[in-house]
Amino acid sequence: MMLLDIFDPKAKPRPIGIDLGTTNSLVAYVRDGRPETIADCDGSALVPSIVHYARNGAVIVGDRAKRLAEAHPQETLVSVKRFLGRGADDPETRQLGPYAFLPREAEGPDVVRFSVHGKAITPVEASAEILRNLKELAEEELHSVGGVVITVPAYFDDGQRQATKDAAKLAGLRVLRLVNEPTAAALAYGLDAKRDGLFAVYDFGGGTFDVTVLVLDDGVFQVKSTGGDSALGGDDMDRLLADELATAFGLTEEVRKKPALVRVLLDLARATKHRLTDAETVTVPNPFVDAPASAATVTRDRFDVLVKPLLERTGKACRRAVRDAGVEVGELDGVILVGGSTRVPYVRTYVEALFGQAPLGDIDPDQVVALGAALQAHQLEGEGEKEEILLLDVLPLSLGIEVGGGVVDKILPRNTTIPTASKSVYTTQEDGQTGFVLHVVQGEREIASDCRSLATFTLAGIPPMAAGMARLEVTFRVDVDGLLTVEAREQTTGRVQHVDVKPSYGLDDETVEKMLLDALDHGEADLQLRRLLENRVEAGRLAKATQKAIVVDVDLLEAGEKETIEAALTALIASAAGEDAAKIKFRMDELDAATKGFAAARMNRAIATAIAGKDVGSIEATVEAALGIEEAHARHGAR
Ligand code: ADP
Ligand code: MG
Repeated sequence: MMLLDIFDPKAKPRPIGIDLGTTNSLVAYVRDGRPETIADCDGSALVPSIVHYARNGAVIVGDRAKRLAEAHPQETLVSVKRFLGRGADDPETRQLGPYAFLPREAEGPDVVRFSVHGKAITPVEASAEILRNLKELAEEELHSVGGVVITVPAYFDDGQRQATKDAAKLAGLRVLRLVNEPTAAALAYGLDAKRDGLFAVYDFGGGTFDVTVLVLDDGVFQVKSTGGDSALGGDDMDRLLADELATAFGLTEEVRKKPALVRVLLDLARATKHRLTDAETVTVPNPFVDAPASAATVTRDRFDVLVKPLLERTGKACRRAVRDAGVEVGELDGVILVGGSTRVPYVRTYVEALFGQAPLGDIDPDQVVALGAALQAHQLEGEGEKEEILLLDVLPLSLGIEVGGGVVDKILPRNTTIPTASKSVYTTQEDGQTGFVLHVVQGEREIASDCRSLATFTLAGIPPMAAGMARLEVTFRVDVDGLLTVEAREQTTGRVQHVDVKPSYGLDDETVEKMLLDALDHGEADLQLRRLLENRVEAGRLAKATQKAIVVDVDLLEAGEKETIEAALTALIASAAGEDAAKIKFRMDELDAATKGFAAARMNRAIATAIAGKDVGSIEATVEAALGIEEAHARHGAR
């Protein structure tokens, strides 16, 4: 007799948590108050993040796709996460893997597109296949899946987070929230129950290393700093060990470079590495027929020596992240191990020495992120007894807009806790300007062209006004998922323009680090250039306003005053053409001094005219116009 699986059709959909990893992905849920991962029919919870596109149109995900990778390298997408949210002309991603890409002219520059069997596949679509696979896995176990929490690296930028959400939507998942991987790991350890503390999360995966410093303040997690290396992981251990084995087998340099052998050697090395986690010594029979040695023996001590340089690189990133967080190693209340590579015993010893305390590693480091995501999903769907945990993260890089002269005005500085919002007010540079061009940038440099461009948009339809009269209020909002929305409102007309910033490029932690270092390297020079550009803009505006005033109110000028002002004007204009910021400033002060009496006379007249039968509103406007000259160099101007 066949047993039918009977379930209640009214059964409530269950929330799930997904760790969408570079190497492996997992899905978990909370069962009887405890999180657990969901295994496939082979009993494994780890789904390799690999997607194979068969010629007949079938899409294969996971272990089966992994087995097809060698024979079909261009049709099997490995480590898709590295491409997520990247632009088509991103030189870095185009070098990754053996893939064919569509020429960017064909499809536009917004995202990288793989060309598989002549069809375009985006990283979002490939990621959606992995998510769909995990969703099906969960449905087999739970019958009905509710909302999902998906984890992302703490350094993921807007574009990468948006791409992750898009992939989830494509897979038919309802995203409750994106949560940072390290935060999810801290939740799995129940650290939120402590209310307060300072933690480091050391995540050593297959191809990436990430370190995050988290602070728990009254039950609220904040990411204090992030760091790492996007090209450092267990794969590097495999390569070093493969070399070691090849030498021990006596393979010549020439033989061991053959692509087919490289694959076999790497697989052998990985298996050996895994065995060395439990055994002190591993003997590997030589599978190559024409090599001299019959077997190779690797001790754990030898393996430790091999991987030590890799660990030192992680140590450097950790020290920097701790420094960036503004804390001392000794202040950390706990260190959490995440990622398959932290299974290596020497990694644990190294981390213990580095932080001066034994790390928390008793939850399976492969699963800990997915388990934390499941707990968070459970709480967000209102199934937990505890109050909702607010998960706060920080911006990895500053966000701002380009203002006059091409300099950046930072609206949200780096390391601001999100969600957050901030406003700045700008004005026009030219008389009769009827629109603003807003250029949104990300980065630490002072000059816009040195930062990453996120979006450009225009607020048009403003009635022509004198320079400096329009009031443009720009609001930056970053939501809980780290996505940026920009609103520009012209206050006198009420015109509003919104944009959701969806940058096409992603930034990995290495790029972020490079941008930070660049900013440090160029700090002084950038500041000087910024001062020069700003002073030029101000000088231009001041000169224009003065030139206009001495024509309009010529009758208010005393004998000889016009000549003095004109001489100061000429000197100012000449200095603005030069490279000396201090000189421009000096000339502006000179012009200021020369126009003092004239400006006072103009103001008196403006007030007198206004009072002669006008309402208060227009008096203010007239006075403001009269004040124009003085205000000109007290304000920024959007381009
Ligand atoms: P990712 O976060 O990049 O998806 P994982 O956290 O799943 O990656 O880590 C995968 C890495 O962990 C691989 O390099 C794998 O070889 C390594 N790994 C898994 N188990 C062990 C083990 N027992 N000993 C050593 N390394 C391991
Ligand atoms: Mg991971």
